[in-house]
Amino acid sequence: MAFEGLADRLQSTIKKITGKGKVSEQDVKEMTREVRLALLEADVNFKVVKNLINRIKERAVGQEVMESLTPGQQVIKVVQDELTALMGGEQSKIAVADRPPTVIMMTGLQGAGKTTTTGKLANHLRKKHNRSPLLVACDVYRPAAVNQLETLGEQLNMPVFSMGTKANPVEIATKAIEQAKAEHNDYVIIDTAGRLHVDNELMEELEEIKSSVKPDEIFLVVDAMTGQDAVNVAESFNEQLDLSGVILTKLDGDTRGGAALSIKAVTDKPIKFAGMGEKLDQLEAFHPERMASRILG
Ligand code: GDP
Repeated sequence: MAFEGLADRLQSTIKKITGKGKVSEQDVKEMTREVRLALLEADVNFKVVKNLINRIKERAVGQEVMESLTPGQQVIKVVQDELTALMGGEQSKIAVADRPPTVIMMTGLQGAGKTTTTGKLANHLRKKHNRSPLLVACDVYRPAAVNQLETLGEQLNMPVFSMGTKANPVEIATKAIEQAKAEHNDYVIIDTAGRLHVDNELMEELEEIKSSVKPDEIFLVVDAMTGQDAVNVAESFNEQLDLSGVILTKLDGDTRGGAALSIKAVTDKPIKFAGMGEKLDQLEAFHPERMASRILG
């Protein structure tokens, strides 16, 4: 399971302080030292850790905590609050355009889970929000990607707009939106091309699609298992495309959690959804508070 190591370490650190009737500055110091090590070991970005620990320290040795009846529990609450804030605080909702269709652009590196997540997101929108999405195959470089999306559409019984692999992605996206208007699809989810690494050609293409379709959401799909790499990828995509949110996949795997805990702080963009498995119903809205509770036990 994701976060296992981090959760074990934080929970044992917390146990030492929870029941204390009195908490000294030294106790807080020791606790934050252990929290710091646990976070670094979980591959959380070191700057993010530094800021977080400073905030925890500042609040935990404050009067309100120290003079409360249950200082141990208050200190833990500070850690919980700060972890929640780190992951974005409030849950972040998906956009709805004033005039349909709402256009969502899915971006990401190859293998991150972009195409699968396109299908999962469409399924989520239909199930939870009663929407009728149109899926759009703009990854024209890999014929398999177009087929993959078409297969997902069949499985979900949802329309897929594709023009094969010869057409230009901007043209495909534009035509898809026209079709969505005509067919009353209220969401258009565009699956774009992925590459093995961030490269200029890819970014230019994504920028072109962005400027012609003016999406309401630009999501980056990143693999949580890749840790700091995921954070770096998020930083570059965000610089180029000004993302509106991130979808973390493979949180069902044994990721240490660094990506989930660093992405919001580094990019200032919220994690909106989490992929929890390969199946089409395994996408969840990302709740920072629940995630922090899960980590702290
Ligand atoms: P793309 O190249 O980014 O479009 O990636 P794909 O959608 O083809 O996904 C790559 C692999 O990751 C596939 O085997 C998916 O089933 C798998 N995958 C995607 N999301 C998840 C997830 O949340 N959990 C797990 N365990 N596997 C996932």
